[in-house]
Amino acid sequence: MTLPRIKVLALGGTIATRPDASGAMQMGLGADDLVAAVPALATLAAIDAETVSKVGSHSLGFDHLHALATKIAALDVDGVIVTQGTDTLEETAFLLDLLLDRDIPVIVTAAMRNPALTSPDGPGNLLAAVRVACDPWVRAHARALGVMAVMLDEVYAASDVLKVHPTRLNAFAAPQTGPLAALVEDRVVPLALPVREAITAAHARLAASAGGKAAPVALCWFGLDEPGFMIEALVDHPDRLGYRGAVLGAMGGGHVPERVVPLVERLAALLPTVVSPRAGGGPMLRQTYGGPSSEIALRKAGLIWGGRLHPLKARVLLETCLRAGLSRDIIAEVFDAFG
Ligand code: GLU
Repeated sequence: MTLPRIKVLALGGTIATRPDASGAMQMGLGADDLVAAVPALATLAAIDAETVSKVGSHSLGFDHLHALATKIAALDVDGVIVTQGTDTLEETAFLLDLLLDRDIPVIVTAAMRNPALTSPDGPGNLLAAVRVACDPWVRAHARALGVMAVMLDEVYAASDVLKVHPTRLNAFAAPQTGPLAALVEDRVVPLALPVREAITAAHARLAASAGGKAAPVALCWFGLDEPGFMIEALVDHPDRLGYRGAVLGAMGGGHVPERVVPLVERLAALLPTVVSPRAGGGPMLRQTYGGPSSEIALRKAGLIWGGRLHPLKARVLLETCLRAGLSRDIIAEVFDAFG
């Protein structure tokens, strides 16, 4: 029997750390080390391992991920596993999902517990990721599943997975939708297919996006009594700050404190500005509340509605749209499809 050909691309992260002389964990392991630590992989797949970088995911950039997507797009394999740090996995997986449109499984995995601890989860997560990549149901539905994250025996859609705890083993979840599949014994048990119309529509608009110029996006999170000084700085010094777009982590169904509304409106006139729910995702309101700080007023004033996307994912999508050179109206259309 011919085993599926799986490419493992290692970026770094806790999964790839080892202790230095002081006992502090440092990036150090490469893709071959990760694969060698899990002999059972050889019974599932013909693995080809490549170390792309040894970088903590908190230091990855959009350019790294664009280069990775270009590499993955050109691979002649049956599945791809990306190993990286957990800190930005919810963003990198979504970016890869926006940039790739392949009919093979592409899976991102990582580890919460480093290799020097008792019961590190990296080897088990890598084994689970390869098992998912080789699973017949997953392979048959690869395009419909999009890029996936596999953590702690659950499979998540890239657009929905969130890191919900900084240190716990069960740090990942898809609070809005739940997992796509679960691993039990040696089986992958399918649970759901993701709704991907908005991603597919984004793909059509982003088709030529690889290689565009970086487009920094500011992320402003609104808390109780926010005075708006950061928005003021964006509005007053757009060239000095260099941001090309902004995401506002808004309250409730899409509200900001009334005192900052004039600033937010000026910002929206200056840069594509997306309103996204600070509650962490879920469709926002469109036509319930009145008054100057309501969703009705903000939408009329030209704010782009972020739909169900978490602010971090909205930021990834906006950067990707701006980098691709999309106009404000097309960007609004891309976001509108997210609900
Ligand atoms: N901050 C590091 C990173 O994201 C380590 C955290 C982790 O991998 O869990 O790569």
